[in-house]
Amino acid sequence: MKAIQYREIGKGPELVEIPTPEPGPGQIRLKVTAAGLCHSDWFIMGLPAEQYAYGLPLTLGHEGAGIVDKLGDGVEGIELGGSYAIYGPWGCGQCHACAQGKENYCTRAAELGIAPPGLGAPGAMAEYVIVDDARHLVPLGDLDPIETVSLTDAGLTPYHAIMSSAQKLRAGATAVVIGTGGLGHVGIQVLRAVSPVTVIALDISEEKLSLAREVGAHHALMSDASAVEKIRELTGGVGAEAVFDFTGVQPTLDIARQVVAVDGDIQIVGIGGGILPTGFFSTPFGASVRAPYWGSRSELIEVLDLARTGSVGVHVEQYTLDTAVEAYEKLHKGEVRGRAVVVP
Ligand code: NAD
Ligand code: ZN
Ligand code: ZN
Repeated sequence: MKAIQYREIGKGPELVEIPTPEPGPGQIRLKVTAAGLCHSDWFIMGLPAEQYAYGLPLTLGHEGAGIVDKLGDGVEGIELGGSYAIYGPWGCGQCHACAQGKENYCTRAAELGIAPPGLGAPGAMAEYVIVDDARHLVPLGDLDPIETVSLTDAGLTPYHAIMSSAQKLRAGATAVVIGTGGLGHVGIQVLRAVSPVTVIALDISEEKLSLAREVGAHHALMSDASAVEKIRELTGGVGAEAVFDFTGVQPTLDIARQVVAVDGDIQIVGIGGGILPTGFFSTPFGASVRAPYWGSRSELIEVLDLARTGSVGVHVEQYTLDTAVEAYEKLHKGEVRGRAVVVP
């Protein structure tokens, strides 16, 4: 089968031909209907050999959906021919976090060598993908897999961050969304769907700012030195009750720190490597800083329900496995509007 793999440190993704995998006991094989590209793929492909811990060759793709095509021994409750999304942050299924469906915070995954598809296990950027357990599948029903596959990460991750700040998202409050790419453009829609807040979006690209306005941001501003002053003005000097940073580089964390309100939340979702110092005099009184990771299974079901009611939709640029490497280049250059999705 065709697959997109990262094979050599520093070399980037490649289109390759590999054997079609067979499902082992308890596993499910999906014929992939759609797989999304995430900036995190570039993060791991940018790591030096001594920090790279995802195995080589690595089939990419941690946003995946497919049709069940073959069941391993002992799999029950999954329909052959059914359309499913893959819940990506695989955990052990046994620990306290997993028992609550929060496999993204599994306490034993690392110790047991369990890794998400595309981030250790073979991912969905291929014609077929193996899912390790039935509980990692969520039925898509009538939802179009191409339109919804990215909700498994670009939807779920902002949703988890936003819901964990739900207490702050009251009428009259302001949320700042920094970086309106794959995750950010869905995050804006989630905020509009679940809360009455005013949304201020920041990006460094006019194209991304226009997308932010299109998907519901009340204000869209250039992410530069002037942003802090403008946000202060727009909030009557109060600042933002919640800041969602989908970039996480130093300049954006510096903005986040200066615009968060007293008792506000900063959620650092982007893994840009910036550092946000917290201490009595470095952030406003009562402000919280959190670095959330992905989301829970029940949150994925909720995000898909937001898509079902039409409250949230991904802006998709469609590619094939033959053009996926080109899509990765565009993502690297910041030229993808919304999310790039590969349809094998
Ligand atoms: P993307 O490339 O689609 O979007 C990033 C956006 O940030 C782009 O629109 C870009 O123009 C903008 N940007 C860049 N520099 C900026 C700046 N200084 N100020 C404002 N905007 C700026 O990327 P994505 O796939 O949406 O991923 C976003 C980030 O989230 C990445 O760092 C990714 O690795 C990370 N991520 C984290 C998790 C998690 O669980 N915490 C999950 C998925 C992705
Ligand atoms: Zn991702
Ligand atoms: Zn666990």
